[in-house]
Amino acid sequence: MIEILEQPRQIFGGLRLAANKAQSLRTPLRSAPLPERLIVPLSQHIGEPAETLVQVGDKVLKGQPIARSLNYISAPVHAPTSGTVTDIGEYAVPHPSGLKATCVVIHADGADRSADTGLKMDDVFCADPADIRQRVREAGIVGLGGAGFPTAVKLNPGRPVELLVINAAECEPYISCDEALMCERTAEVIDGVRIMRHALQAQQVVIGVEDNMPRAVDCLRRGLEAAGERDIRLLAVPTVYPAGGEKQLIYALTGKEIPSQGLPADLGMVCHNVGTAAAVARALLQGEPLISRIVTITGAGVSQPCNLEVRIGTPIADVIASCGGYTEQAAHLLMGGPMMGIPLPNDRMPVIKTSNCLLAASVEEIPPPPAALPCIRCARCTEVCPAYLLPQQLFWYARSRDFDKVQDYNLFDCIECGCCARVCPSHIPLVQYYRFAKTEIWDLERQRTKADLARQRHEFRVERLEREKKALEERRAAAKKGLAARPKSGDAEAKKAEIAAALARVKGKKTQPATVSAMRGSADSEQGPGSDTGSDSR
Ligand code: SF4
Ligand code: SF4
Repeated sequence: MIEILEQPRQIFGGLRLAANKAQSLRTPLRSAPLPERLIVPLSQHIGEPAETLVQVGDKVLKGQPIARSLNYISAPVHAPTSGTVTDIGEYAVPHPSGLKATCVVIHADGADRSADTGLKMDDVFCADPADIRQRVREAGIVGLGGAGFPTAVKLNPGRPVELLVINAAECEPYISCDEALMCERTAEVIDGVRIMRHALQAQQVVIGVEDNMPRAVDCLRRGLEAAGERDIRLLAVPTVYPAGGEKQLIYALTGKEIPSQGLPADLGMVCHNVGTAAAVARALLQGEPLISRIVTITGAGVSQPCNLEVRIGTPIADVIASCGGYTEQAAHLLMGGPMMGIPLPNDRMPVIKTSNCLLAASVEEIPPPPAALPCIRCARCTEVCPAYLLPQQLFWYARSRDFDKVQDYNLFDCIECGCCARVCPSHIPLVQYYRFAKTEIWDLERQRTKADLARQRHEFRVERLEREKKALEERRAAAKKGLAARPKSGDAEAKKAEIAAALARVKGKKTQPATVSAMRGSADSEQGPGSDTGSDSR
């Protein structure tokens, strides 16, 4: 039995950062206006992009699937509102690669008419867990904490789950969308947690919230009481960035450490974000797929920081406009927070499923990085790394492109939290090196897989040709043998014997019907040919 600690632990390393969440929580959560035009990417998740189901000129309804997933690790995409598909093409999307991706462009008709999605379940708590997972998959739900991993896959870990951990820690500064959700849509969150528990058949559930969110803790506590829910534990973990990392939160709540390169499922645990839980409740209780999400719009560069429910595909410029526009201080635009956010080159890109925050920051909030200096081996980066890594070694091997060594130092355990870079006195952009190394390794692996496939195909072809050649030779040999065994022309005695045998066969055939007829009796002899059916029916 996994023990949930009475007193959550503090994670290893990390940083105490100014929260900067209050400014976006001053006003209640509201919905952003419907935009005129939505740009909906086909890939907003980890895994294969979805395949489009619509064509330019098609009319679509809100919640209608516009792209389907063809792979297990993928997610379908739905129309965020009703309207007309006006383009399917390559558009800039908020992604660290900076590359364009295929998007479906929809011109909204303003009616916001809904499709019948068929996602709603009448008695979800008695439903087969496999049915729940299937509907979660059809609803296009992915992890809303920022990772975007397909939720249905995580609800099916392939082994028994003892503990479901709900990640409500939201540790990164400025981001408050989960806090707004927990305070204003408490019942939806709790319903979602209960559905996930049922889908996983988890024995225990714990919600981990950072202890600097007393209002959220209070709302959840009252919500659990109102739902008569006594089996869901609620714990406040010490506020340290990045306590909301999956492995870090599990450690804080249970004292258990997920092994390097391992998954929580290896220890009988599964961790889901609190916003994802609410999305599951919305899909299964209200029939609405993932077509919107709560986004924190904040920073000194935006006039009215707040939390907004935004339709997926809404251009960021429209979202900023509905918050009063930019201030004169706006210097940077990021998707995400100041530690792990992606810098955006412009605001024409759309909000996607993983857009938890739009940070329009001033120069004071995100100062330009000073020029990087050589590493002085001070080890400050090691002291703050929550993943127990040696960031300076990772940097060294990533820079020298020694991708074997960098993996020996567990590069893939790095959660890119940025703590090391934040404290580095030499201002080395460490995380950029780690991202570069990861991308190179993935590319090499892709190339290796491609080369392996090509080699396998070649080997199969050579084998097949060999088999065919052998079979042909065997057929030729058999034919030759048969030819040799046949009587030679001019062999008169053999020919005579062959003719005599043939005559005997013909004679035998002629005498047979009379014998059979005699055995059957006179009735049969009155019936015509093909009277077997009549005989059977007797
Ligand atoms: S903090 Fe910076 S200078 Fe110090 S060891 Fe790490 S990488 Fe080197
Ligand atoms: S090495 Fe990775 S996990 Fe460790 S502090 Fe740096 S960014 Fe965070």
